[in-house]
Amino acid sequence: MHDTGWKRVMLKLSGEAFAGGGGLGIDPEVVQYVAESIAEAVSEGIQVAVVVGGGNMFRGAQLTEGGIERGRADYMGMLGTVINCLALQDFLERLGVDTRVQTAIHMSQVAEAYIPRRAVRHLEKGRVVIFGAGLGAPFFSTDTTAAQRALEIGAQAVLKGTQVDGVYDSDPQRNPDAVKFDKLNYNEVLTRGLKVMDATAVSLCMDNGLPIVVFDLMSQGNILRAVRGEKIGTIVGP
Ligand code: UDP
Repeated sequence: MHDTGWKRVMLKLSGEAFAGGGGLGIDPEVVQYVAESIAEAVSEGIQVAVVVGGGNMFRGAQLTEGGIERGRADYMGMLGTVINCLALQDFLERLGVDTRVQTAIHMSQVAEAYIPRRAVRHLEKGRVVIFGAGLGAPFFSTDTTAAQRALEIGAQAVLKGTQVDGVYDSDPQRNPDAVKFDKLNYNEVLTRGLKVMDATAVSLCMDNGLPIVVFDLMSQGNILRAVRGEKIGTIVGP
């Protein structure tokens, strides 16, 4: 499944990654590195769509622990993702890459509304499209958003850039003997409860045969490798 020469990909970036080691806020060095990698991919003619998470701002489920109602907490989470989108847009445009942010919640001063056919048109013109505010609905995640948007715009893979270099049979930070998988099928991920993406996202990919590549975002050159379809991290497929 690797080296397929994907023409259009969906890059999922966790919000936590944007914070670098800090946990909160935005680390300009990280966003610069991500933007440079995306710029390079675009210059190679690959169409890149991006979904950015918001874990560096707010996670709905965590806010509810402080007593905030779940729906409202999730909307706070979704709004947080938009801040990350605007940061990435800024870094990309400073590198000369045309970029559009489309959000699932309307906010016309800062972003276009999510219009799938328009998103495809932007991609065809070589613009990077960054999807913000998740699906615009509580109880979902930005992983699920990445899967859904990828399907709707006809991306050939979801590339999940994260803090680990693939999927392991147990937590590699706690268990030194943890074994990394090069390849998995969707069912194994779901039945073993492996931490790839949440179950909603994985089952959406499974139902539609959309490959998922899990890779270490911050290893130099990895975004490009993933976008080019090189063998990297763990690939989840049929
Ligand atoms: N969220 C939501 N619906 C969506 C996408 C996101 O309610 O369709 C909220 C949810 O509260 C989530 C937060 O936005 O915790 C931030 O997204 P996520 O946790 O997926 O970010 P990541 O883990 O990728 O940084």
